Formats: sequence, structure tokens, C-alpha cells
Amino acid sequence: MSNRHNLNRSSLTVTAFTLILMLFFVNYPIPFLYGIELYLFTAIAWFVYFRYSLNYALLLIIFAAACGIFIWNQSPLLALYPLEILLVGWIARRSKRSAVLWDAIYWLTLGLLLFYPAYRWLTDWSDSNGITYFLFSVANGLINIFFGKLTAEYLPVGASKTRKKWRIGQITFHLCMVLLIVPTLIYLLVSGYFTYQRSLSEISSRLDTIYSHVNERLNHLTETELRDLKVRSTVQKASLQHMFSNITTGTDVQITLIDDNQNVVTTLEPAIADNFAYEWSAGGIVKQVTDSLYLWQPEEIPSYNKVYRWAKSEFVSVYHFDRVPYTLVVKQPAIGFQHNMFNLYVISVLLVGMSTLIAAFVAYRVMNQLSRSITQLGSFTTGLPRRIRLRETITWEESPLHEVNILKNNFEDMSKELASMFCEVNKREDKLRVMAHYDTLTGLGNRYSFGLYLPSLIEEAKKDHTKIACLFIDLDRFKSINDNYGHEAGDAVIKEVGARLKEYNTAQTKAFRLSGDEFVVVLREPFPRDLVQWAQDIQASLINDVIMYHDQRIQIELSAGISIYPDHGQDAQILLRSSDHAMYQAKVSGRNRVKLSTGATMNFPKGGA
Ligand code: GH3
Ligand code: MG
Repeated sequence: MSNRHNLNRSSLTVTAFTLILMLFFVNYPIPFLYGIELYLFTAIAWFVYFRYSLNYALLLIIFAAACGIFIWNQSPLLALYPLEILLVGWIARRSKRSAVLWDAIYWLTLGLLLFYPAYRWLTDWSDSNGITYFLFSVANGLINIFFGKLTAEYLPVGASKTRKKWRIGQITFHLCMVLLIVPTLIYLLVSGYFTYQRSLSEISSRLDTIYSHVNERLNHLTETELRDLKVRSTVQKASLQHMFSNITTGTDVQITLIDDNQNVVTTLEPAIADNFAYEWSAGGIVKQVTDSLYLWQPEEIPSYNKVYRWAKSEFVSVYHFDRVPYTLVVKQPAIGFQHNMFNLYVISVLLVGMSTLIAAFVAYRVMNQLSRSITQLGSFTTGLPRRIRLRETITWEESPLHEVNILKNNFEDMSKELASMFCEVNKREDKLRVMAHYDTLTGLGNRYSFGLYLPSLIEEAKKDHTKIACLFIDLDRFKSINDNYGHEAGDAVIKEVGARLKEYNTAQTKAFRLSGDEFVVVLREPFPRDLVQWAQDIQASLINDVIMYHDQRIQIELSAGISIYPDHGQDAQILLRSSDHAMYQAKVSGRNRVKLSTGATMNFPKGGA
């Protein structure tokens, strides 16, 4: 009860935490440059998918994407991510294969079919950045599912329904991949940042150079020329325009000169007419990026469409002159720098993709090498004691790994030790079994094994409708042998009787020593014509020859009783009692004879002569 409570509470905490983290990442993607961003929120969704369930992950990502699109004005492309989780998650569940693999397939097929046109639709179809954007999204998607998987596997938070045991090969593989991907991402971020800074200073100095050219030119104007310029003399304007074209040849820099009333004196921008009021920051959002450099971004392109917005952005520097109250506005479109940066990214992403494939291959090989001997050792030692007990031959293979080899040697030693222990135990067991079932003095079956034998024989006879004869033998006046010749002589007599009885251990008859001087011979069908005669033959074979004990000749006699199943007893106990009773009758009527049981005897006192 308390366990379930804890589980629920911890799941609730994880839900709240993942949701907050997801909303955070929807709102704050990691910005690379010129509009490229790394969205990490699907990594969280994948974490939930791997750790909990597909439905749970879908619920969270749909909510997060909806918040992103409708509340925080993020890209409508976010709507494609729940689709990724739904399709990939569903197929992976059904196929029972790696979701990471399916995600790669998704991105190169349906992802491409959906994402690329969707992106182009959000821009103006002429934007050549689409392929970069798509490539980056693919990399983004794969990085996310990979990190989702890693965190689900190794993050020690949140109760998991199916917490698996880690496999060494898998850990090695993941480690290799992390060691490759994380530094690459950091490298991309850092190198991107420095390339951006470099391009900013390059732009700054390019615009500054233009300004100094113009400034120099204005400084060299004579007073008359200057006055001509102020009254917009066509000669002066043409001359300035000529100069502007000269200094901007081969670049996409745009120059506009405006007077102190914000009216255009002369310009290279085709869209702007002379003498019009000019506001360079109009229609855009302006940000100061360095001391002298501004970034102008078009207002009409929505902020979520970052790559496209950057494609239409301009870096602007505004300069004033000493000699004339004019202002020079120099603009550098960002698109060229964006292209350069994107080319760098595309190359990097392709390089990372290729090296990821190579790393995956290497990691897989390393993982195989490392884990094979460990896995082998694992499967070798499974059920080891049982296999040793069954005397299976185990061939131990050398491992290339030192530690595994030590383990292997230890196991090998242990199994040798175990094998000899089992051998010893088996011997003792055999001995115990013999002791439990056989009489130590005569080697005949004892009372215990007789107690097992007769009932099973009766069961058989019951089924086959056959008969069984039970011959109960008791030596006559055995006590006096003990008394006259000594207990050891008595033992020798019992031993000899046992040896003589052993002759009757055949498929049809079986002899037992029940206790003291009592023996039983069990006979199954077919019976001899005369059972009493058969018993008398046994008696004769037991007593006819004297028994030699050292120099003493010991003559024995015996009394015996026969009972027959089912005539004199329906079960083992009664059958034995009947034969015992018949033997008793033999004793009573003068000993050294055989008596056939006289009938079913249920209740009679047991006693000696
Ligand atoms: P009866 O004719 O009535 O059978 O007389 P008996 O002397 O044979 O008496 P009974 O069969 O009742 O007693 C058997 C004796 O055998 C009792 C015991 O002193 C002796 N005995 C029992 N087990 C052993 C044994 O293992 N070795 C020896 N030497 N004597 C035993
Ligand atoms: Mg006796």
C-alpha cells in the first residue's frame, strides 16, 4: 500500500518536472546562429516514452507543442514533433525493434516529406536555406531520441515500470556515442559563436572602410563642390554615386547618404527615391550588436520563422561627417554570412553524421569484443552446479580480458572443487541408500525394503489377478545358540542362513531378513504344485548342512509359515501377520516344520512360542 503511494507520488513529481522542463525547452531552444536552433523538448518526450509509456509521452508533447504554437508564438513546425513520437513510438512498440533506428528511418523518409515542404511553405519558396534547416532538424531529432534514451536508461529518478539491468556492451556503445556527440555539439556552439564574432568585426570594418572612403572624399571637396552637393547638383550626385558603386563593387553593401532633414541625398538602394524622407530602421526591429553596428530584422516575418527572418536581415552602421551635416547609412545584408555559416553547419552535420556511423560501427565492434567474453562467462556459469552434478564436461575458453580471465579461472577452480565434492557426496549417498535398504549382516533386503516391496507386488497382483506366497521363517531356539556358542557364533549363523537364502533371490522369489532370526521369502506366480513342499525344500536347503563356526558344528532348525495373497490377507500387513501366525502354529506344534496359514486372520495376538 505504502509502496504504491510512493510510486504515485514519485511519478507525479516526475510528470510535473518533465512538463516544466519541456515547456522550458519549447520556449528556450538553444540558439546556434542565423536562426538555427536546437530544440530539446522532444528529448524529454522520448525520455517519458522510454521510461513510462507512449501515451504519456504523447500527452505531454502535444500539450507542450500546443503551448509553444498558440501561447508563445513558436513555429507551427512544432506540430510535426508529436507526429514523430506517435509514428516512431508506435512502430517501435509493434516491431519490438530500436526506436532510435525507426526514428532515423522516419527522418529520412516521412520526416523529409513533411518537414521540408512545411518549412518552405513558411518561407517564400525561394529561400535556399531549407535544406540546411532540414538537415539540422534531422540531426536535432536524432540527438533528441538518443538523449531521451540515455536519460531514461541511466537517470536515477522516477519509478520505472520496467527497470532493466544494464548490459556492458550497451553501456560501452552509449558511452562511445556520447563521447562523440557531446563534444561535437559543444564544438559547433563554440565555433559558431567565434565565427559569428569574426563576421561581426569583418562587417564592422568593411562598413567603416566605406565610411572612411566617403569621408575622405567629402573632406577633399572644395567649398564650391560642397555647396553644389548641398543643393543637389547632378554633377556632384553622379560623382558620388559613381564613387559609391566603385567602393561597393563585388559586395552586396548598400549605401545611402541623407541630409540633416532625413532626406535622401543620394543612394544605391534601388527602392529608395532621392529627396524622400528616409528612416533606415523603418519596418524592422533594431538591435545594437556592437558599438557601431546595428541589426535590422524585418517586422513582417514572424519571429518563429527565425532562419527566414535572418535571411532578410541587415547589419547597419550609421555615420556622421565633420564637414557636412549629412548622415551615411551603410547596410550589409546578413544573407551572405548566413550562407557561409550554414555551409559550415551542413558540413559539420554531415561530418558528425558520418563519424557517428563510423563510431557506431566501432562502438559495436568494441562492445562485442568486450561483452562477448563476459556474456559467454555468464551463460557458462548459468546452472553451473547442476551441470557439474550431472557430470557435464565444461570447456573453459580463454578471454582476452584480464579481469574476465581471473573470473574464468576462479570459476574453473570452483567447478573442479565442486565436482570432487559431488563425487564424494554421491558415494556417500550410494552407501546410505544401501544401508537404508539392506541388512548389514546378511546383505539381504531389510524390513524397510520389504515394506516397500510387498505392497507394490500386491498392487501388481491385484491388477493381474495373480497370487503371492509369503514364507515367514524363524530359527528355532536361536537364543540358545547365542547362549551356548556366543553372540558372534549367533551372528555367523544368521550370516550363513542369509547366504543360503540369497540363492532364492530370483525373478520369481525374493528373500529378506526382517529382524533377529526372522526371514521372509516372497514368491510370485506361477506357483509350484505344492507350496508346502516348496517351503519344505527351502527349509531343507537351510538346515541340512551344519554350520561351521571355527571348530564348532552348529546344527540349526527352523519353523516356517506360509500365507497366500489374496486368500490369507488382502494387504501386505495382514498377509505378513498370517504367515507369522502360521509360523507360530508351526512352533506350537513342535517346531522345525512348515505350516500353511489356515485362513484370513484379522485379529490375533502376536507372540513367541
Ligand atoms: P523360538 O524357537 O521360539 O524362536 O526361540 P528363540 O530362541 O529363537 O527366540 P526368538 O526367536 O524369540 O528370539 C530370537 C533371539 O535372537 C533374540 C535375540 O537374543 C537374538 N538376536 C536377535 N538379533 C540378533 C543378532 O543380530 N545376532 C545374534 N547373535 N542374536 C540376535
Ligand atoms: Mg527364533
